[in-house]
Amino acid sequence: MNETIAVVGAGISGLLLARALKVGGAEVVVFEKSRGFGGRLATKRVGEATFDTGAQYFTAKSERFAGLVAEWAAAGVVARWPGASAHRWIGRPGMNALGRFLAEGIDVRREAKILQVQRSDGGWALTIENQPPSEARRLVLTAPLPQSLALLRAGGVALPPALADELAALTYHPCLALLLTLDGASAVPAEGVALADGPVRWLADNAKKGVSSGGAGAVTVHLSPVFSAEHYGKSEAELAALVVPGIADRLGAPVVNVVVQRWKFSEPVGAYAPRCVWLPELGLGLAGDALGGPRVEGAAMSGVELAARMRAEGGG
Ligand SMILES: Cc1cc2nc3c(=O)[nH]c(=O)nc-3n(C[C@H](O)[C@H](O)[C@H](O)COP(=O)(O)OP(=O)(O)OC[C@H]3O[C@@H](n4cnc5c(N)ncnc54)[C@H](O)[C@@H]3O)c2cc1C
Repeated sequence: MNETIAVVGAGISGLLLARALKVGGAEVVVFEKSRGFGGRLATKRVGEATFDTGAQYFTAKSERFAGLVAEWAAAGVVARWPGASAHRWIGRPGMNALGRFLAEGIDVRREAKILQVQRSDGGWALTIENQPPSEARRLVLTAPLPQSLALLRAGGVALPPALADELAALTYHPCLALLLTLDGASAVPAEGVALADGPVRWLADNAKKGVSSGGAGAVTVHLSPVFSAEHYGKSEAELAALVVPGIADRLGAPVVNVVVQRWKFSEPVGAYAPRCVWLPELGLGLAGDALGGPRVEGAAMSGVELAARMRAEGGG
């Protein structure tokens, strides 16, 4: 059995954890199912337009996280949102830039979807889609919590019953994101718009945000949790027909293309006080926003906290 720590997920929690463990001298490998870095810090190209599709911005409330953000700002990978209130931070040129930056120097295996994790000989065996299996001494799962728990279930791993019940209760809101390309400049204010009622809860123009070049409106529209749950499986055309007429005035120019991004696990519903889980007897850790708090800062601090616990207990 090698001494590697396997981390599932290259979102902000997994990448910050991997960096901290590596600084502590551990051998760390991150497995990421997608082709990109950053998880829900996601940016997508659609034709000539570019959209931040998941998290739109983040805030830094704790001194510790503010310290990290200041480092990223000095490196030019995050900046304050132009035109918005000073506490909103965005990735530069898009949100996924932060994930790319944090992955530098880390062994991240992309397009490596973990199908199950099993106990093996005092360590862990990871089954990977269309690839040979991998082994590790310790394992950290940072996917949205229901997905992490499913990996453990698939591998026949039982958590202590009280903990299993607590974690099973931590659920997520779904979010449908419509990525609208407009024929001309949008009327959406530079700082975006949050709406309290109706199917739409958020609109932002990625052209005004500096994410999309070319000048034509490239508007990310986030639909409310209730609407998203009810219409989750609908097609692009069906969703556009339901949503676009109600926001046509706010958009200010005709829609020429619609792409939908479905976030089944967008933001956690509740919070978990301990911020992360570390089970030294299993060599198993869990981190992410369902544990650390329902935003980028909570996810980041969950990864940082778990790395500190693993290092303190000789697990990293
Ligand atoms: C629509 C939307 C809007 C949001 N708005 C905001 C906002 O305005 N402000 C804010 O602060 N936060 C916002 N958030 C929340 C924020 O994006 C998250 O809290 C944070 O990015 C979560 O980071 P994470 O590391 O916990 O998880 P993730 O970013 O989800 O990372 C987990 C990673 O694990 C990978 N993975 C999953 N399963 C497997 C597997 N089987 N094998 C390998 N890899 C796997 C995933 O591909 C992903 O890259 C928003 C999220 C969404 C979706």
